[in-house]
Amino acid sequence: MAEGPTPHGILKDLFGHDDFRGQQEAIIGHVWQGGDAVVFAPTGGGKSLCYQIPALLRPGMAIVVSPLIALMRDQVEALRQSGVRAAAYNSDLAEGEAQHLRRAILEGEIDLLYAAPERLSLPGFQAFLKQVPIALIAIDEAHCVSQWGHDFRPEYMKLGELAELFPGVPRLALTATADPQTQRDLVHRLRLDAARIFSSSFDRPNIRFSIEVKDNPKRQLLGFLEREHRGDSGIVYCLSRRKVEETAEWLKGQGLKALPYHAGMAAGLRQANQDAFLKEEGVVLVATIAFGMGIDKPDVRFVAHLDLPSSVEAYMQEAGRAGRDGLPANALLLYGLGDMAQRRRMIDESASPEAIKRIEQAKLSALLGICETAECRRRALLRHFGETLESDCGNCDTCLAPVESFDGTVAAQMALSAVYRTGQRFGIGHLVDVLTGNETDKIRSWRHDQLPTFGVGRETGKAEWQSIFRQLVARGALAVDHDNYGALRLAGDARAILKGELALKLRRDRRPTRRAERAARGGGESAALRQSLDAEETAVFERLRALRTTLAREQGVPPYIVFQDTTLIAMAKARPRDLDGLGTIPGIGASKLERYGARFLEALAQS
Ligand code: ADP
Ligand code: ZN
Repeated sequence: MAEGPTPHGILKDLFGHDDFRGQQEAIIGHVWQGGDAVVFAPTGGGKSLCYQIPALLRPGMAIVVSPLIALMRDQVEALRQSGVRAAAYNSDLAEGEAQHLRRAILEGEIDLLYAAPERLSLPGFQAFLKQVPIALIAIDEAHCVSQWGHDFRPEYMKLGELAELFPGVPRLALTATADPQTQRDLVHRLRLDAARIFSSSFDRPNIRFSIEVKDNPKRQLLGFLEREHRGDSGIVYCLSRRKVEETAEWLKGQGLKALPYHAGMAAGLRQANQDAFLKEEGVVLVATIAFGMGIDKPDVRFVAHLDLPSSVEAYMQEAGRAGRDGLPANALLLYGLGDMAQRRRMIDESASPEAIKRIEQAKLSALLGICETAECRRRALLRHFGETLESDCGNCDTCLAPVESFDGTVAAQMALSAVYRTGQRFGIGHLVDVLTGNETDKIRSWRHDQLPTFGVGRETGKAEWQSIFRQLVARGALAVDHDNYGALRLAGDARAILKGELALKLRRDRRPTRRAERAARGGGESAALRQSLDAEETAVFERLRALRTTLAREQGVPPYIVFQDTTLIAMAKARPRDLDGLGTIPGIGASKLERYGARFLEALAQS
């Protein structure tokens, strides 16, 4: 008896995987049967298969709403290589091509169609789609529909209407970043109140989170890259275009393959740099946050922030671009007092309505709290998304090198009182001089050496005082006055602290050490590979990787579209001798086996 396709059959034959992950199977089954679904799962959690497989199981064509053309291009190419009939309908298409695609759609030759939300709201396009049976509608990056979310896109608002336009067609919304409020909001706006919700933890256990106080950011970055990421691909985020240019230039001077990316560059150059990042090995892309959404590159081994992101969600999304393939990856964030003030000012000076500004300030405060916490970073990050971590993660900077905390009530009182007694119009430098009794000209001319607070904090070092001020700013007890050269004034619960109504636990900052103990280890290959392969396997891996590069170049696609690192690693370990053996390697489906099998067997035979 002939059986129809099954979820497992498709998983194995097309994608080359043996087992489903997490809730994939449940979600696929639910949507296959015609149910609506909302999927909250982390980046790299395997959300794509949750709509790709039901798209192939159900009659008709699936529509995938995706915010960016670059993202569609990549996904469509990856699907085609796996033997799936996928296409993107967007402005990339010349009129002739669009016509050709419309004909293919009408003839039932397309199983998955990717389109942007703007396209889907065009009445003409909607009318066209009404002519063919629709298998399902998937809305990717669904947090974009919410104003509470961190990258709201007005075009997403109309997507709720798809419910009426295509009655009876199952819909799924998927996202990797949404705090509880955004989650509720997106469900509602997309009219998915009756949908089944599949939540998995947003955690990314393979990413090691580290947050350091900015001391000498270039040196800190270079040290990090040399220690842990020689030859790796990664992203360095900076806030301004100028800093992007400068940092890329500087890294290049240090012998790294660094390239800039920001919205102010000529389009051609920007595209070329993005292409190089996707298609070559070991490129460090220095970028503003204009870069990243829709970048599906699985082997980004690190994301470093040289400036503070705007919120915890933004941070998780940006840092989350590391390690999609599940191999070890690093997220490093450097921040300082200047960043806090700069971010606050950006919000104050933006054109947003007051209500939005308040949300943004609160989102920023939540991130600052995590920067200044003495507890496990992952626990703090996940709490923001309404999750509770049972035990400390063991894979963040505070877990690996616990920080001391101390009763900072008295120190905080001294700091606040120095602010108050000097009239709330001086910046940190001067305030620290007051506390440590440093008789500068400025101190004398303001007669601040006469104050009762003068010199009361001599026992504590300058760096510690700076850290105390930073923590007070982070918790909102002090506000930075941007119009007045960074003067500090009392705010929030400062008065309660001064009156002794609140006890304060503060973090004792580690001195920014040179972390020499983890110095260079020769070889030069990335930490992720060192962890999973021995020397002989590494040699095989390198040969396979070279072949992958050749094959990718021949087709003008990124290497990971041919095979991902995880697949090459499995190949290097198992060293299959024939096509049957090769077919059991994860990530090798029938179509790729036919396309690439012989060439890889040849390379393996040389081992
Ligand atoms: P998301 O869209 O949730 O960020 P993807 O769908 O891009 O994640 O999947 C992330 C990675 O996990 C991809 O490299 C994909 O090939 C792999 N993957 C997904 N599902 C499975 C599975 N069941 N078995 C093995 N690998 C999987
Ligand atoms: Zn931890």
